[in-house]
Amino acid sequence: MRLPISGRMYRVVFIPLRDVDGDHEPGQIRIDSRLKGRRRLNTIIHEVLHACGLVSERDTSRFAGAIARMLWKLGYRSNNSR
Ligand SMILES: [Zn+2]
Repeated sequence: MRLPISGRMYRVVFIPLRDVDGDHEPGQIRIDSRLKGRRRLNTIIHEVLHACGLVSERDTSRFAGAIARMLWKLGYRSNNSR
C-alpha cells in the first residue's frame, strides 16, 4: 500500500519483523504482520506519527496510545487483510 504522509509518499508493508512491532525509514513503514487488534492499530499510528516528524519515543508512544484507545473505543477495527 502506498499513501502520502506529511507531504511524502510512503510504502506501507506488513511483514514478519524481529524484535520490533514496527519501524520506519524515509519512504517506508514496516508493520509486523503477526500483530492483531489494538496493538496492531497502536503500532500503525505510532509509525505514522514518526513519519510525520515526531521524534521523541516517549511522546510518540503516549500520543499513539491515546489515539489508538480512542479509535478502539469508537469501534474501529481492521480486517487484517493487508
Ligand atoms: Zn517509535
